[in-house]
Amino acid sequence: MIEKLLRPNIAALTPYSTARDEYSGPIGVFLDANESPYDNGCNRYPDPHQARLKARIGALKGIPAENLFLGNGSDEAIDLVFRLFCEPGRDNAVAIAPSYGMYTVAAAINDIAVRQVLLEEDFSLDTEKLLAAADDRTKVLFLCSPNNPSGNAFPKEQLLGIIRRFPGIVVIDEAYIDFSDKGSLVEEALARENLIVLQTLSKARAMAGLRIGLAISNPEIIQYMSMVKYPYNLSVAAMEKALALLEKPIDEEVAILKLERERLAALLPELPFVRTVFPSDANFLLVRVSDADGLYRFLLDRGIIVRNRNRVAGCAGCLRMTVGIPAENDALLNALKEYALS
Ligand code: PMP
Repeated sequence: MIEKLLRPNIAALTPYSTARDEYSGPIGVFLDANESPYDNGCNRYPDPHQARLKARIGALKGIPAENLFLGNGSDEAIDLVFRLFCEPGRDNAVAIAPSYGMYTVAAAINDIAVRQVLLEEDFSLDTEKLLAAADDRTKVLFLCSPNNPSGNAFPKEQLLGIIRRFPGIVVIDEAYIDFSDKGSLVEEALARENLIVLQTLSKARAMAGLRIGLAISNPEIIQYMSMVKYPYNLSVAAMEKALALLEKPIDEEVAILKLERERLAALLPELPFVRTVFPSDANFLLVRVSDADGLYRFLLDRGIIVRNRNRVAGCAGCLRMTVGIPAENDALLNALKEYALS
C-alpha cells in the first residue's frame, strides 16, 4: 500500500496521456502528435515508456521492466522522490553528511527541510543517530553507498537494518556500485515496500554526457515515478546512443580503474603533505592533506582539476581525486611530487 506514503495530490493524479500511448505499432500514418513528417532520425517524439532501453538495461542487470524507472540522470529520480513523497513546507527528509549535494539542493527547491546526520570521523554510519534524527514528518531517508565524497560503502547488513526499521521511504544511491565489492541492494529493491535504489549510466558505464539514471523499486513506486516524470524525459539521441554503447563490455575498464585506485591509494601516503587517504569503494579517493586550498590551486595551475572539499562538513583539509587512466594518474602523481619539493 504505497498510497499511505505518497502525497495525497500524487495519489490522486491523472497523468498526461501521450498521443503515442494509443498506438504502439512501428508502422503507421502518424498524424496524431503535430510532429514534422520529414524524417531526419529525430522528427518523432521518443517512446515515453523507453521500452527498448529498459529491456536492454533490465537484461544486463537482471531487473524486470516494471521495476525500472529511467530518468534524465539519477538527479531526475532524486527530484521525483521529493515530489512524490514530501509535502512542501511541511515534511522533511534525513540525509547523511557529507554526501552528494543534490539531495539538499533538490530538497530546497521542493521546500523540504533536510536533517543532516554527520558521519563519524572515519565516515562510518551510526544507525541509532541516523534514525533518531527522524520524526513523524520524515518521509524519506537518503543514503549513498558507496558514499560521495568519502568513497566508502556501508555494510549491507547495516543498510538492511535501516530499511527494516525506518517506516518511510529509504533511497540508497548506488551511483558508484560498479567499483565496489560490497554488493548491491537491487534485488532487495524489487520487492520491498519502502526501498528505492538509484544507479546511473554516468559513472562506470561512461555515459555522463547522455544523462541516463536508473531508479529500481517495487512496481507501484515505479509506476508513480513514471506518472510524474516529463513524458519524454529521455531523448531519441540519448537512448539510441546508450543502446549502442551498452553493447560494449566495461569489465576491463572497471578493473583498470580499481587497480589504479589501489595504486594511488598505496603511493599517495608516501607524500609528506598527505595526512590520510580514506579507503574507497568508488572511482575516486578522498585525501586529507596539510593545505587543501594551496594544493588545489597548485594543481589547477598545472591543468589538473580535482574537487576541493575543504569546506564540506567532515571533510576539512580534503581533496577528492577521481581515478583517471594510468597516464592521467601519473600526471597527478608527478604534480604532487613537484608540490612536495616546492
Ligand atoms: N549520485 C551520486 C552519489 C553522484 O555522485 C552523482 C554525480 N556525481 C549522481 C548521483 C548524479 O548522477 P547522474 O549523472 O546520473 O545524474
